[in-house]
Amino acid sequence: MAHKQKSIKSSGPVEKNEEFEIEIEDLTHEGNGVGKLDGYTFFIPGVLPGERVRAKAVKLKKQYGFARLLEIITPSEERVDPICPVFKRCGGCTLQHTTYESQLAFKHRMVEENVRRIGKIEGVPIHPTIGMIKPWRYRNKSQVPFGEEEGGLIGGFYAMRTHEIIDIEECLIQHETSDLIVKKVKEIGKKHGITAYREEDHKGLLRHVVSKVGFATGEVMVVLVTNGKIIPNEWAFIQELSQTIPGIKSIVQNVNTKRTNVIFGDKTKVLWGEAYIYDTIGRIKFAISARSFYQVNPVQTERLYSKALEYANLTGKENVIDAYCGIGTISLFLAQKAKHVYGVEVVPDAIEDANRNAALNGMENVTFAVGEAEKVIPQWYKEGHQADVIVVDPPRKGCDDALLQTMIEMKPERIVYVSCNPSTLARDLRVLEDGGYRTVEVQPVDMFPHTTHVECVAWMERVEK
Ligand code: SAH
Repeated sequence: MAHKQKSIKSSGPVEKNEEFEIEIEDLTHEGNGVGKLDGYTFFIPGVLPGERVRAKAVKLKKQYGFARLLEIITPSEERVDPICPVFKRCGGCTLQHTTYESQLAFKHRMVEENVRRIGKIEGVPIHPTIGMIKPWRYRNKSQVPFGEEEGGLIGGFYAMRTHEIIDIEECLIQHETSDLIVKKVKEIGKKHGITAYREEDHKGLLRHVVSKVGFATGEVMVVLVTNGKIIPNEWAFIQELSQTIPGIKSIVQNVNTKRTNVIFGDKTKVLWGEAYIYDTIGRIKFAISARSFYQVNPVQTERLYSKALEYANLTGKENVIDAYCGIGTISLFLAQKAKHVYGVEVVPDAIEDANRNAALNGMENVTFAVGEAEKVIPQWYKEGHQADVIVVDPPRKGCDDALLQTMIEMKPERIVYVSCNPSTLARDLRVLEDGGYRTVEVQPVDMFPHTTHVECVAWMERVEK
């Protein structure tokens, strides 16, 4: 026994490349199955809780190891055949092998566990995840890397953990028009002698094709990211492309001549049509340029932001702060019902878009500021600025502590926390609870079906007056 304990500690109960059978007990937040072999933990992608599988050890660490699935001995009732033919090679949709209902339940569990374990908050209703009625074709933006094979253009995605481009004809989470654009660029591009960029020798032209589709308006933009300015037969190529894509309003070239993985370069030029396309979420209209950030799932964005608006419980008298406001999506939603909304965002281009969007909607009760929320908002507080409601929508790392402390001092009646990371959400809810707020309820929303990402919105009320 003592000997066995020792061998577990050093390298696990099996050797590297050894095959074994294991029961899967749980799923990690990344969607990997978790099972125990003689007390030693294995993580295995592509398996589900309740399954018994045969696997092969691929990496052994002191406390845990990774294994590759070889065979499912007893499948879970929740297992489904992924409908995407490249599910295993792409790595984009890590949950496609489980039913959509179980994906929603997994996301709910993730939020619930974080709130309880990290937030140490008990007894707060965490509602079932709001899912999509049709969880496919939900993305309004695709960014497809291009390459060449046997003289033809190919485009698709990078095989997992490599820079090898896999050619595909469709991606089932993208809008159909994005697939059509990629197909047409391949066909028409080849005809007109367009080459694809090669990382190895930094030669060739076309690096990425970015498509944007306004779901509500049907307007379409194509961005051709090129290594150099000159596109051979540009006019003929662009004319033909513009005639084959329904809804096309804009074809833009972005020049990126750097040796980098970053998609966009600094120079953008309209080749055909307009510089912007438009879309609406709820009653708010948005202008989208080649470089603007815009939420990628407009259907679920409307549901998430409607929930945020409901939680903000506005009557028209409130001064509201929207921290981490991006292009002002939430700010403009809130401004429909608030006295005034003050948005803060660190990226100057996003604030330019936010101002443009406010003007586009004729909304005058919004003010946007460029800067770090944790610096700008404390400054406002020092100047005597009050807020009745504060909404935050931070990046994955959550809110800066200086911002949380200022929020507590400002004593808004209500805080609405929109989050893309349940663990930092739970950490920040704890800080705010300790500062005199009570979490009323939390609503998870599925913005990215078939992936492990989960968004949620939490409603907090001030308890100490
Ligand atoms: N609510 C926005 C998106 C929020 S995403 C929308 O729906 O469009 C988070 C945003 O926070 C990003 O736009 C990012 O640029 C911004 N950001 C990151 N760190 C920040 C900081 N310290 N202060 C203010 N904004 C920040």
